[in-house]
Amino acid sequence: MNYPDRFDVIVIGGGHAGTEAALASARMGCQTLLLTHNIETLGQMSCNPAIGGIGKSHLVKEIDALGGAMGLATDKGGIQFRVLNARKGPAVRATRAQADRVRYKSAIRTMLENQPNLTIFQQAAGDLIVDGDTVRGAVTETGIRFHADAVVLCTGTFLGGVIHIGLDKTLGGRAGDAPSNALAERLRALPFRVDRLKTGTPPRIDAKTVDFSKLAEQPGDNPRPVMSYMGRREMHPRQMSCHIAHTNARTHAIIRQNLDRSPMYSGSIEGVGPRYCPSIEDKVDRFADKDSHQIFIEPEGLDTHELYPNGISTSLPFDVQLEVVRSIEGLENAHITRPGYAIEYDFFDPRDLKHSLETRFIHSLFFAGQINGTTGYEEAGAQGLLAGVNAARRAKGLDAWWPRRDEAYLGVLVDDLITLGTKEPYRMFTSRAEYRLLLREDNADLRLTQTGRELGLVDNARWQAFTDKREAIERENQRLASTWVQPSSAAGQRLAETLGKPLAREFTLAALLKRPELGYADVAALPGIDGAPISDDTVAEQVQIQAKYQGYIDRQQEEINKLKRHEATPLPADMDYTRVDGLSHEMRQKLGEARPATLAQAARIAGVTPAAVSILLIHLKKHR
Ligand code: FAD
Repeated sequence: MNYPDRFDVIVIGGGHAGTEAALASARMGCQTLLLTHNIETLGQMSCNPAIGGIGKSHLVKEIDALGGAMGLATDKGGIQFRVLNARKGPAVRATRAQADRVRYKSAIRTMLENQPNLTIFQQAAGDLIVDGDTVRGAVTETGIRFHADAVVLCTGTFLGGVIHIGLDKTLGGRAGDAPSNALAERLRALPFRVDRLKTGTPPRIDAKTVDFSKLAEQPGDNPRPVMSYMGRREMHPRQMSCHIAHTNARTHAIIRQNLDRSPMYSGSIEGVGPRYCPSIEDKVDRFADKDSHQIFIEPEGLDTHELYPNGISTSLPFDVQLEVVRSIEGLENAHITRPGYAIEYDFFDPRDLKHSLETRFIHSLFFAGQINGTTGYEEAGAQGLLAGVNAARRAKGLDAWWPRRDEAYLGVLVDDLITLGTKEPYRMFTSRAEYRLLLREDNADLRLTQTGRELGLVDNARWQAFTDKREAIERENQRLASTWVQPSSAAGQRLAETLGKPLAREFTLAALLKRPELGYADVAALPGIDGAPISDDTVAEQVQIQAKYQGYIDRQQEEINKLKRHEATPLPADMDYTRVDGLSHEMRQKLGEARPATLAQAARIAGVTPAAVSILLIHLKKHR
């Protein structure tokens, strides 16, 4: 049947990409349908119930700055919060939260159900309605036809999903869920390049069978960070500790003896797995000289005894998994509640997408999330938001929008995917961003919320909170820049005590804050100084970071401006790189394979040096 109501946008799949896509499209005023297998699994975390971490929390904060759901759901479901790299510079600092998987999921579902313009429907999509080279809607497996101006596909690990435990294979989208085979076949018939990837998850353990006295406790941070710019500590439920355990020589011996029963080593899995999140059998094999690996024993929630042993993802047979787990100190009597497994699935070469995440071959069809070869909730959510925005803009007849690499990690993620593609599950790292001093997690709102407001993504409450914060930062920066301290004044004397030496001359508070020995608290409230210090930690943090890093930030901005001047310089599609004088063999090969469209794209190819880019520029000028 044809469903009687027409939609502007249909989003298929209610995982992390799909929920952000549907919410974004609906926030922008488009009538949006979220079509998903199972309403009970909206926002389900297939693997570890943890959000954030290095590079990833940057994405969560960007989603949040654009009005998305992930940050707030984390604040509502988070049971342990930590700041990683707290002693390093602000560019690589990251927030990580262990979440209660049930509370997280419920927070996402509540947001979806209360979102105006959003309709949810439970059923598998089995087909797309394609007219010539344009998508017009989707058909469920029972034949209900939904029509729309744009469709976003966010089907995660479900397309042609095969689950492996040892040498046993079953069909599934993840444990407990059916795969999406009809849709996979339909997509394989379209002109996209498709390949296989794999990912894995560890066995879960019953906490009642763990001897915690043998494990090191790892509590959350105090003071506790929040994930969302709209988050407050009072939103957090009761907090819990994680624990640390270690594999040992016996664990590794058990794994080595059984590698022939591993689907990865016996050749039964062909898909490539995530290099940066390897299985325990991979770690033991690849790092043969290490006789111990750390395992974080993380709670799955407040109302369950299940634990997630982070670091022993495996697809070895169940009997071996049990032996491996029980070889670990503290887990000698552990009961496994769910076996670990690996899953292989179809993904589509993201080089077949535009920056908007629209496919190059089918108009108005967008792909987001694991379907594009990424791994991780945060990577999926960020793409979902972008695809949702662009599907909505397509429905409204507006041009596509996407952030540049110097504006957002989301810009880096999408640009990496569509220009370089990926051969293994792609995850975000701070090292992937060349302008990471500008793209900090603390300033995602300052970078993106204004744009989010213009796009129609940011509601009044968030906009008000943001503009208040931006004005407070501005006011405080002005106060610090215009307040002078004389060496002989009471303020000068106090600073001399803090520094252990007198001030050499008069300084502004802003200049003093640049000194490594002084923090915001040291300069903001001095005797005899006008104005009260800021009580909002996030404003004070921003003022301090801006003062201390302004020199470096300015330098990165100059680099960006320089590249921008040449950014658009096109490189001919048929350019023969072997004939460019001065390029090394390696550069010729890399450029020849990637075939960048512009100089800026060439500069971003992994391993292509700035010197090679200059040579290209000279070559282009000579042969113009
Ligand atoms: P998913 O979260 O997979 O959501 C897909 C959604 O689409 C589901 O709701 C599904 O029901 C729905 N759907 C699928 N097909 C259809 C259809 N035809 N019709 C309607 N609905 C459909 N990430 C890490 O960062 N680290 C890890 O270690 C890690 N390990 C993992 C281990 C396993 C076993 C799995 C399965 C995933 C793992 N992940 C890991 C990946 C992480 O779960 C994903 O990156 C993330 O969930 C991707 O989000 P997504 O929205 O793209 O897809």
